[in-house]
Amino acid sequence: MVVRNQAVLTARFNKLQADPTDIDAFCQLDGYAGLKKVVEMDKTAVLDELDRAVLLGRGGAAYPAGKKWRHLFYAKGQPKYIVCNADEGEPGTFKDKTLIEHDPLAIIEGMTIAGYMFDSPQGYIYIRGEYRNLHRCLRKALVQARTANFLGENILGITGFNYDIKIISGAGAYVCGESSALLNSIEGKTGRPRVKPPHLADVGLYLQPTLVNNVESYANIPVIIREGGAAFKALGTEKGGGTKLICLTGHVKNRGLFEVNLGTPLYDILYSEKYGGGSSTGRPLKFIHFGGQSGPIGAVAQLKDCLYSYDGLWANNLAIGSGALVVMDDSVSIIDYLNSVAAFFAHESCGKCTPCRIGTLRILEALEKFQKKEAVPGDLEVFESMLTHVTQLSACGLGQSVATSMVSSLKLFPEEFELAINRQTAEQKEVLW
Ligand code: SF4
Repeated sequence: MVVRNQAVLTARFNKLQADPTDIDAFCQLDGYAGLKKVVEMDKTAVLDELDRAVLLGRGGAAYPAGKKWRHLFYAKGQPKYIVCNADEGEPGTFKDKTLIEHDPLAIIEGMTIAGYMFDSPQGYIYIRGEYRNLHRCLRKALVQARTANFLGENILGITGFNYDIKIISGAGAYVCGESSALLNSIEGKTGRPRVKPPHLADVGLYLQPTLVNNVESYANIPVIIREGGAAFKALGTEKGGGTKLICLTGHVKNRGLFEVNLGTPLYDILYSEKYGGGSSTGRPLKFIHFGGQSGPIGAVAQLKDCLYSYDGLWANNLAIGSGALVVMDDSVSIIDYLNSVAAFFAHESCGKCTPCRIGTLRILEALEKFQKKEAVPGDLEVFESMLTHVTQLSACGLGQSVATSMVSSLKLFPEEFELAINRQTAEQKEVLW
């Protein structure tokens, strides 16, 4: 049974400490109960449970998993492929890494349920190249699952239930976290995003219908099947069910991975001893960067009554994204901080489209000007217009989200940009002219 304020996704972490890939121990702790149940269910009833659960995609886009699964279920064409996005490249995010490290079979079970649902012969785990030590752990878990006949041919003794999973390593490109770039990379092509539509559920891997979900999303699937969609939803809020793994970093006393019920007060996450424990420097906390580099920034002082949930953050023009919370105190200049964000995007742009390839560099240059106090009147307007152009004209989510943190910062801390403009230089220039 799952109840609020108790671990759900992390429940097995301590119990499997000796060997997270031990399949007997996993099975004794509810492991594969979801798979055993799903094969007894009507497949449309499974889709209904997913809808009832209101599981929003945990990779960052918050797309309803039920809708995605339903789309693939009715998509025409076989074979259908199951892909797990484990290319966790968002700075400040390490929840998928921790899940793979401590409970890899939960992800494999979630993917196998998907394999059964869509009569898929093959699943792929696309894992970040830098997570090399986790490749071994996943490989070992897959061997265990095959040995126990949870993968391979006639799974659970069901004739024709044939499904296996391969591991594919990324090679360090952040953009391969974008689903279509990831599929290109699996196919051996350059990891660049595809033009959409078509939807990947219709034309995905090797042009076949494909399901792409995040590691944490797959780990939630067995819980939903086992406990029921309603019980899962009750762990969160009306608009987003379940718990969320969050990665708390920066100027808080307790940094690391926590599992919280969606709907937990944000101030509890920042200040209670159970989670962040308050400021680590003794200085007031100033801002939080939500969901990685592509997410928005919120001012701590304005978020006293905010709930950490999809709807709670949306109401404040914020978003959960990947689940990262980078917390900074008031010693950090927003311009310095945004500089590092801009440098990241300029480095990671794949270069396919000009607004992103060139725009990210121009944004970085503009921020460097603000940082060195070399900006002059008019530069702020140019900067804002560049943010609009890069957002509106870029081809994929990377370019479209470069400006998210910058736009929110301009609204929250306009005085810091204003102070960075060297008006004296401008006046002197006018006199000289
Ligand atoms: S927006 Fe950026 S990352 Fe995306 S395709 Fe264009 S250049 Fe590549």
